[in-house]
Amino acid sequence: MSQRTFSIIKPDAVRKGYTAAILAELEKAGFKIVAIKRISISNAQAEGFYHVHSARPFFGSLTQFMSSGPIFPMVLEKDNAIADLRKLMGATNPANAEEGTIRKKFAGSIEENAIHGSDAEDTAAFEIGYFFAGLELA
Ligand code: ATP
Ligand code: MG
Repeated sequence: MSQRTFSIIKPDAVRKGYTAAILAELEKAGFKIVAIKRISISNAQAEGFYHVHSARPFFGSLTQFMSSGPIFPMVLEKDNAIADLRKLMGATNPANAEEGTIRKKFAGSIEENAIHGSDAEDTAAFEIGYFFAGLELA
């Protein structure tokens, strides 16, 4: 059944000029880009987005990284979108990512790992609403 998920092309990938190549990978895999925009977020806005990780030792570094330059938040749609995107992204640490995955191709490190993807239905709903208003998704 058709499902929506939320993704971000992270600042490292935007800086390196990988935006179009990553979008091409997503479309080739059957994802429809329902909404997308280019924005820069503040450290406080990154903290709000990654609040589930607030107790982790890398939280400060992660939010600093995510607010270090423009990002492309987007809403993607396809059958089984949430699980399929996680698979296409590859492991959090690109050193462990499978051949052919986006992180294997474009990520530089466990932190600067090119792309975000929601991990469940409830987080997808929160994350879509964090970045997009309802009228942008009509
Ligand atoms: P994302 O939520 O961005 O899709 P993920 O679900 O694969 O990635 P999480 O465990 O949710 O991984 O971690 C969120 C993000 O925090 C990672 O994508 C990465 O940018 C950063 N991160 C995770 N683990 C580490 C770590 N050990 N050191 C530094 N940064 C980390
Ligand atoms: Mg995650």
